[in-house]
Amino acid sequence: MSLREAVNTVLDWHEQWQGQWPDYSPSPIGQLDTATLKQTLGELTERLNENYPFFHPMYVGQMLQPPHPVALTGYLAGMLINPNNHALEGGPATMKLEKECLAQLAKMFGFATHLGHLTSGGTLANLEALWVAKQKHPDRYIVYTDQAHYTHGRMCDLIQARHHKVKTTPEGTMDIHALQAFVEAQPVGTVVVTLGTTSVGALDPLNMVLMLQQKYGFRVHVDCAYGGYFATLAETDPDMAVFRSLTQCDSVVIDPHKHGLLPYGCGAILFQDPRVASIYYHDSPYTYYNSDELHLGEISLECSRPGAAAAALWATLKSFPLSPEGMGQILKQSRDAAVLLAQAIRTSEEFTLHLTPQLDIVTYFPTGPDTKTITEKTLALYESGLNSQTHPLYLAKLNVDASRFSALHPDIAINTDTVTILRSCMMKPEHVGVVPQIMDALFYHAKAINQSALV
Ligand SMILES: *Cc1c(COP(=O)(O)O)cnc(C)c1O
Repeated sequence: MSLREAVNTVLDWHEQWQGQWPDYSPSPIGQLDTATLKQTLGELTERLNENYPFFHPMYVGQMLQPPHPVALTGYLAGMLINPNNHALEGGPATMKLEKECLAQLAKMFGFATHLGHLTSGGTLANLEALWVAKQKHPDRYIVYTDQAHYTHGRMCDLIQARHHKVKTTPEGTMDIHALQAFVEAQPVGTVVVTLGTTSVGALDPLNMVLMLQQKYGFRVHVDCAYGGYFATLAETDPDMAVFRSLTQCDSVVIDPHKHGLLPYGCGAILFQDPRVASIYYHDSPYTYYNSDELHLGEISLECSRPGAAAAALWATLKSFPLSPEGMGQILKQSRDAAVLLAQAIRTSEEFTLHLTPQLDIVTYFPTGPDTKTITEKTLALYESGLNSQTHPLYLAKLNVDASRFSALHPDIAINTDTVTILRSCMMKPEHVGVVPQIMDALFYHAKAINQSALV
């Protein structure tokens, strides 16, 4: 079914749904005549042309892609009614859909019990986890790594929690000895583990953190805003086995708007122990007047939340269940694409692989003798791909500390404080089929910048 047909199905349903109520005449105020509307939409779409082609397989930059058609039509269906999941009365149907989605996510994480809800994104979802961490242990530290998402530090400041950054290995994963040294010396309430860092997709050693937890008793929050959907492969792919240990964690964040095919505005927070509800609970007699059971509006920091996001997620999970055969297939394509690209880069002379990818982000750079040359080449190559009519290639850049870089590439001279390298998110299922084309384009631009450097 085409997107157009799917959209029409939704529009037909909506017309019928509205038709159940007595006729009324819409107010003339607010009616737009066709010409004005056409004009506005014409201008708007013209403005929207100024975008990178996130949909295209030659876009191998940031974690961006348009939503799946099923998510889009699911969202549209919800949005036409526009329920608000802040309360049962605001979104009777979508509140149920949201709960079903959360139950599916909880099952994927292996949570025996759960409490959770959708949020506007990973940042807000993490904020809730950190806020609960602070409420549980007001005087103890929240610990995260120097490669954790930059919002953890901000959010800890916001909630005025004591917080500490532990260092990471050159590969970007938590230095477990540094963590151990800190928890031995200081009271730690919660450790934030990142499964899939945003910059390179590095997986913190969750199992070792859990071993320390046995001894020190801190809580474990896992930020897998980006990597969480790889849990669909935990049982079938040994590289993803770490996700099996989510079952032992206190809270988890996942972003359906990253790897879950959803449009922006959809993150999720899940707690394993439903009793954290008592931390949120506030008696709000006006809004929640006729709901007996505790509902999602009562356990969220945000008030208004789009029921449409729940509708979109529900429809997407119905089409792509959280199993190796469902969503897992899509994640596997991404993972395979990254492995293939890394292999191709490793065997090329023009490019050097920075890190072996742990998920689907590949980091690499144009081969060079020193960090200044590498940075210059990276920037030139980035621009060359971006501005090419014949060989468009959309890459992303990543700044790496020279010391971290040097630990991985001891033969390269260091003559800058940081080095800029290339970063490619292989998140679209099409990527796996176009690795040779991506390499061709990389070679083409590597040659182009070398030639222009000679002129
Ligand atoms: C993207 C990301 C976040 C922030 O999530 P938003 O949805 O952008 O607010 C937090 N943590 C990790 C690991 C992420 O990848």
